[in-house]
Amino acid sequence: MVNKKVTILGAGESGTGAALLAKAKGYDVFVSDAGTIKDKYKAELEAEAIVFEEKTHSMDEILGSELIIKSPGIPESAEIIQKCIEKQIEIIDEIEFAFRYTNAQIIAITGTNGKTTTTLLTYHLLEQAGLKVGLAGNVGHSLAKQVIKDEYDYYVVEMSSFQLDGTVTFKPYVGVLLNITPDHMDRYNYSLAKYADSKFQLIKNMDKASHFVYYQDNELVKAGLSSRADKGARHAVSLVEETANYFDQGMMYFDQSVKIAQEETSLRGLHNAINMMCAIRVALILELPEDRIREALKTFKNAPHRMEYVATINNVDFVNDSKATNVDSVKYALGSFNESLVWIAGGIDKGNDYNLIKDSVNAKVKALICLGKDNSKLRDAFHEQIIDLLETDNVKDAVRSALKYADAHDVVLLSPACASFDLFKNYEDRGEQFKKAVLELKEEFESNAIKQ
Ligand code: ADP
Repeated sequence: MVNKKVTILGAGESGTGAALLAKAKGYDVFVSDAGTIKDKYKAELEAEAIVFEEKTHSMDEILGSELIIKSPGIPESAEIIQKCIEKQIEIIDEIEFAFRYTNAQIIAITGTNGKTTTTLLTYHLLEQAGLKVGLAGNVGHSLAKQVIKDEYDYYVVEMSSFQLDGTVTFKPYVGVLLNITPDHMDRYNYSLAKYADSKFQLIKNMDKASHFVYYQDNELVKAGLSSRADKGARHAVSLVEETANYFDQGMMYFDQSVKIAQEETSLRGLHNAINMMCAIRVALILELPEDRIREALKTFKNAPHRMEYVATINNVDFVNDSKATNVDSVKYALGSFNESLVWIAGGIDKGNDYNLIKDSVNAKVKALICLGKDNSKLRDAFHEQIIDLLETDNVKDAVRSALKYADAHDVVLLSPACASFDLFKNYEDRGEQFKKAVLELKEEFESNAIKQ
C-alpha cells in the first residue's frame, strides 16, 4: 500500500471516481472543489471517509500533495494549477490515473464531433457480441470508479482534448480519431495547431500492437499524421478513397469482403457513416462476428439531442439536433436531408465562420429562425440569401413560426451551431424545451382537428 498524498481537484463524476480509486489503492486522499459538490458525490466520498472541501481551495493542503488529479474542466491557466506547476507537482487526469491500475484493453475515442455517438455505438457492438465491456469517459461512469473492481476486459472511453491533455503514459489498444475542426479555441490560445496537437496525444504512446482508426478525409487529421511516426497499425476511413474502410453510395465496405448498407442501420447522414465505419472497424479489429455486428447496428439507439426525430405535424418532421454546437456539425446535419429545411439556429457564438456552410444553406434552407439573445452574427451572415428570416428569444415562438414557414414534407431542424447558455441551462435543456414545444404544438393541432 502506498501512502502518498493525492489531491483531487474538482469533485464531479471523474473526480469522485478518482478519489475512490485512490483511496482503494491506499493513497492519502484530499478532494477540493472551488464550486459546490453535488450531494450524491458527497455521500460517496463520506462513505469512504475521504476528506473534502467545497467553494474553496486550501493552498497549503493542495501544495503539500505529491500528485494532483485535476478535473478536465480546469484549464492549465488557472491559478491553482500554475502554483502546482511551479512546485513541480505531477498533474494528471482521472483517465491517466485509472489507466495505471487496469489490465483491460482500452478503446479511446476522440474528435471534435461524433465522440458520443461513436463511443456509444462501439460499446453497443462489443456488448452485443458478448464481450465484458465497460463504458467510460464523458459518457457512462467514471473510468476510475470502474477500475476499482476492474471486472471488464475492455473499456470504451470517450475522450475530449482536455482529457487527452492530462495523459502521460495512457496507451489505448485502439485509438479512434474522428475529425479535427475548430472548437474550444479559447482553451488553446486560439491556435488550431495546439488544439490538433492535443487530439494527437491519443497516439503518442502507441506501439506495434496498437491500432489507430482515423477519418482520413479530414485535413487536420491528414496533416497531423503526415508529420508523425507510424507506430501501430493504421486504419483509414474515407468517403472518397478506396481505403480498407470506405463508403460509396450508401454502402460501407471493409477489406473488400464485408459490405454493409447504411439503410440497414439505425443511423442517418454522412457524418454517421463515418462514425459507424470507425466503430465497425474497431469491432473487426476485435474479430467480432459479422452477423453480430449487423444485428447490433440495427438495434443501436443514439443518445438524445443528436439528429433526434421528435414528431410530425401536418406532414412536417421536427428534428432535434441541439448538440450541434459548432458549424461543422451543422454542415453534416444540413447534408443529411434531401428535403427543404426550416432551420432553427443561434445562441452563443464560439467564433463561428458561417462561410463554411453558405453553400449547404443555399441548397437546402428555405427559412431561418434565429433563436438567441444576440442574433446579429447569424443574421448578418444569412439575411441576404434567406428572405424568410425571423429572430426570437423564445423557443415556443420559434417552433410555431417554423411550422408556418414549412410546407408539407419539409423538415424543421434545430441545429444551433452555437452554445446554449444565453437562453438555456445547457444543450440538453435546449433540446428538451424544443421537444416540449413541438409536442405541445402537435397536441394542439390534433385536438383542433378532432373539434373540426
Ligand atoms: P460529441 O460527443 O463529439 O460532441 P456527438 O456524437 O454528441 O459528438 O454529436 C454532436 C453533434 O455533432 C451532433 O449534432 C451530430 O449531428 C454532429 N456529428 C456527429 N458525428 C459527426 C461527425 N463525424 N462529423 C461532424 N459532425 C458530427
